[in-house]
Amino acid sequence: MSLKYAIALSGGIGSGKSTVASLLRLYGYQVICADSIAHKVLEENKDSVIAVFGEEILDNQGRINRKKLGGIVFSNTNLLKRLEEILHPKIKAEILEEAQREEQKKIPYFVDIPLFFEQGDYPIVNSLLISTTQELQIERLKKRNGFSKKEALSRINAQMPLEQKYKMASYVIDNCGSLESLQQELEYYLQQHLPKF
Ligand code: ADP
Repeated sequence: MSLKYAIALSGGIGSGKSTVASLLRLYGYQVICADSIAHKVLEENKDSVIAVFGEEILDNQGRINRKKLGGIVFSNTNLLKRLEEILHPKIKAEILEEAQREEQKKIPYFVDIPLFFEQGDYPIVNSLLISTTQELQIERLKKRNGFSKKEALSRINAQMPLEQKYKMASYVIDNCGSLESLQQELEYYLQQHLPKF
């Protein structure tokens, strides 16, 4: 099974992937978002996650505190692996189900998967990588998430280096300039490099 019309949208944390996803939606493209599916799957599998991480990952309303959970898994690779083992198969199944529905329309659509290249098990051939420098990733994560440099680096280092993803992507947009130039580069890609069917 291969998802013919799907284009995987990926990047590194803080590289500008969600910004591009929002622009794509504005332009009328369908974007399946792995992160929002992941949020839903995490809540649905709360019991299995608590069984591994304990009740201390809950907030005072009994919901999973994602920031706390993130703090734990990004300082311990084994625990990150355990969490991914619980959630990834379920997230993937939901993404594939939504993608199958999109395929019926026979027009290109995007699947925003932060760990597309790391996971390597999606039946998607085309990909768009949003890249940037590590310095800009750190700067944006400090601003967006209020992370310290150390917190930003632990998340960046848990991912495959962007240089490696460069070699695997069908197309790369370097998001090192202004938001305006990101928008221009995206428009150029959509006009000139979108796969033709
Ligand atoms: P990702 O989804 O890859 O983690 P985001 O799209 O959320 O990254 O971008 C991270 C942060 O950086 C956001 O706050 C976003 O507004 C900002 N950002 C992204 N691209 C640029 C840019 N070219 N110039 C300035 N800020 C940017």
